[in-house]
Amino acid sequence: MSINIPDETPKKATDCPLCGGNPEIHVTKHVYSLNHRMDYFGISCPNGHGPAEDGVSREFMLKRWNAWAAKATSILSSPIRPCPFCGHMPHVKSNDLGLILDCECDGTSSKTVSDPVSAIEVWERGIERRKRLNADAEFLNGTIARASEKGA
Ligand SMILES: [Zn+2]
Ligand SMILES: [Zn+2]
Repeated sequence: MSINIPDETPKKATDCPLCGGNPEIHVTKHVYSLNHRMDYFGISCPNGHGPAEDGVSREFMLKRWNAWAAKATSILSSPIRPCPFCGHMPHVKSNDLGLILDCECDGTSSKTVSDPVSAIEVWERGIERRKRLNADAEFLNGTIARASEKGA
């Protein structure tokens, strides 16, 4: 006789740090090996936020979610580098699609990214790109200035 012990202590998944939604585990794919079927699970909130990876156990995905949520929360609450051009900290906005980091500058490329870690990377990359563009412009201006000095 086997007794089904109800799974009374599922680790509680934290609410989505971006939208407050409750995450749900869903099956992402089945993998067959010989006559054995293996399910893969993903976890996301109703708005689709969550870790990109899937895994072979619900337990694991709960842990994965909580780790993701903790990381997202710490990113949202920790200081992000201020914009070197306007000196402002980026506003972190979240909407249904994810995060946007934006500052006071013109030409800030704001792109919504569902993964907060990637959102920060997009922000940092945008700064690096604009630094390079500015360096190019300075170099050009210097060249033009020197050329016109000679011409004068
Ligand atoms: Zn969410
Ligand atoms: Zn700025």
